[in-house]
Order: sequence, then C-alpha cells, then structure tokens
Amino acid sequence: MPNSLTPNFLLEWAREAGREHPFFDFHIHPFDVLTGDTTYQVNSQPPGLFSKPGCSYHPPAFAPTMGEAAIPSRMQNVAAAERALLLASRLAYTHTGSRVVSDHLELAGLSGALLLPVVRCPGATETTLAMMQEMFSNDVRYFYGCPFPIGVPPEGLHEYFRVAKDNWPIRAIKVHSNLINLDPASPVGLASMEATLEAAGCLGLPVIVHGGRTPGLTPAEKMEYGTLEHLSQVNWGLSDAPVVIAHAGCYGLPDDELPVALSILNNMLEKFPNVMADVSNLRLFAIQTVLRSVDRSRLIFGSDALYVPVWKAWLRFLEALYLVSPNPEKDLVKIASTNPLQCLSISDQDYFCEF
Ligand SMILES: [Zn+2]
Repeated sequence: MPNSLTPNFLLEWAREAGREHPFFDFHIHPFDVLTGDTTYQVNSQPPGLFSKPGCSYHPPAFAPTMGEAAIPSRMQNVAAAERALLLASRLAYTHTGSRVVSDHLELAGLSGALLLPVVRCPGATETTLAMMQEMFSNDVRYFYGCPFPIGVPPEGLHEYFRVAKDNWPIRAIKVHSNLINLDPASPVGLASMEATLEAAGCLGLPVIVHGGRTPGLTPAEKMEYGTLEHLSQVNWGLSDAPVVIAHAGCYGLPDDELPVALSILNNMLEKFPNVMADVSNLRLFAIQTVLRSVDRSRLIFGSDALYVPVWKAWLRFLEALYLVSPNPEKDLVKIASTNPLQCLSISDQDYFCEF
C-alpha cells in the first residue's frame, strides 16, 4: 500500500483495475430533486448543455482538497435549513444535460450512469421524462429511472408503470419517500410502496428507494420517511426485480446512528435476496463502516451528482475501499461494475458494444 492515498494514485489504480470493466454510476439526478425544475434553455456551446439564463458553464475539475459530504444535521431552525437546502440545490443545478454529466463521468473515469429524477407534484412525471429524453438521449451511456408519480392511487400504479415503460425507455423506478411524502410505515404509504413493488416485479424494473434522513423538510416527520426503521416495514420480496436502498439507508445519519441502521439493513438483506444498497453521498467514515458491515455482493457505487461532483464521490469510495477491503480490486469491479450492470440486466459485452 502506498504511503498516502493521493487522488492521482487512486484514480490510476481504478483505471488499471477497470480496464476490462466499465464502471457505472448508479445514482445521478438529472434535475434538482427538491424543486423538480426542468425548465432550462439550450446553451449553444457545447452541445448537450442546458442552462439557467445568463449562466456560463465551467466543466467540473478536481479541487485541491477532497472535502466531505454534508455533515448530518438536525437543525433546530427548520425553515432556515429548508432555505439553505433549496439554495444549494438550485445552485448545483444551474446547468444540466448530457454534456454536464459526461464531463463529470469522464473526469472520474466512469462509463455510464443511471439517471434518477424525482417529481413532487401530480402530473409532472411525463414532462420530466420528456425533458430527460430531450436533454440526454444523444448519449447512449445513460439509463433512465421513472420517478414515482404523485397522485396515482395504489390500484393505478401497475397500469401507470406499464404505460410508462411502453412510452419511454425507462429501466428503473425511483421512490424518494421523504420528498414525495410517502411514509412506508403508514397504511397509505405502505400500499403505494407495495403496489410499486408488484408492478416493478412484473415489468422487470429495479426500484431505487431513498434511504435515510433528509434535513430541512416540513413537517418534520417527513425527514424520517426514508429511514431504515420506516423502510423495514415493507415486504420488499413482493418484487423479484432488484430493490436498491440508496445511501445504504444512512443518508444524513450521524456516526453514532450507523450501527443500528446497518443492522436493520443487514436484516433486510438477509430476508430479501433482491435487496441491494448503494453507497452514494456518504462521508468517508460512513462508507468505510458500510464496507466493513455489508456483503460486497449487495453493494453498488453511486455518486448522488450533481449534489456532489462524481469525482469527489468516486475518490471517497476508492479511498474507503482501499482502506477497508482485503481485496480492493475484486471489490471495486464487483461494486462499481458487475453489480450495477447486473441490476440493470446489462451484460459487460453489450455495454461495451454500445460504444
Ligand atoms: Zn439522491
């Protein structure tokens, strides 16, 4: 092991280990999940770039210091926290489109991504899918998730997703319980979640579920709907397609809550063979803890870009893996290539053939 795990060393190591395996980012949001805003102007230079009016684009670049993921917070002043969150969220999404995401992926050395939009009002799903296709379909490296459609009752979800799959090239379903006010521990929320799972199983679509706390939401109970305590109420075995608990269920959790959360996650993994977890947007210590506690064959790499630059999430993951794993090359390929591609039913060969 080298004396210091510099970004250059880690990136070179990953490039070498991944020469025959395309690395994949399983968790990118094409649009701001807080506002669901899809209104952008075409920015003439370069192609594939969509921007807010009057904003010039600077491609992502390595920063001299790594920084860390947002410190979990239980801010007393929820209104202030919500304003801060909205502002940061809007800023992260000044620009989007295939060019922005490909700049991120190429800087980190990744080959493709699953795009996960979230909508927070009824009727917005179609507009979002249409905008996503307009902004990303010029690049075959992207796969699309369908946002959970707000306002569709449980008995209408199967038909809804069936039609969506016919009309759009969707490969997964995204459910962000905290942001869409869906509490899996309530009868209504549970019915929606389980109807989604039944539909996903029939249609062969993986479901990606936000896992953890989201600070700054009102009413405050909503912040908890995605925690593992709530998610563990669901019968995830209703689908035989994969279910991926994002952030390993630990988003926004302080270090002292990790052991309990991960023991609930491990119970879920043991009970439901289709359940997986992604390691997106966690602090270095949390990723290390997840890697120490959870079976590698159930883990997937994701960044949570554009909230965090892909390179930063990737380096944090590589560092954690290098520090914790007895066989980091093997685990790297498993977590960042084999597992995500299997989840989306893409073979390595098909994937390389697409380029
Ligand atoms: Zn996310």
